Amino acid sequence: MMTLNIQLFAVPFRKVSKTRKRMRRSHNASVAPTTVKCPNCGEMIKPHRVCPKCGYYKGKEVVKVKEAA
Ligand SMILES: [Zn+2]
Repeated sequence: MMTLNIQLFAVPFRKVSKTRKRMRRSHNASVAPTTVKCPNCGEMIKPHRVCPKCGYYKGKEVVKVKEAA
């Protein structure tokens, strides 16, 4: 049976085996954010959101975006 090592307080790093440390960190990887191409301006944007570049969503302008001079 697997022992549940619930750490309620700081544990000296030598007391945690390489394997246990690596098992814990197996879920810590960062993932690249999902992006889709804006169909209006072609900018890579987050899906299901108004494009921050052109203010378009679902084919029409829904917010005004300040033009960068
Ligand atoms: Zn856009």
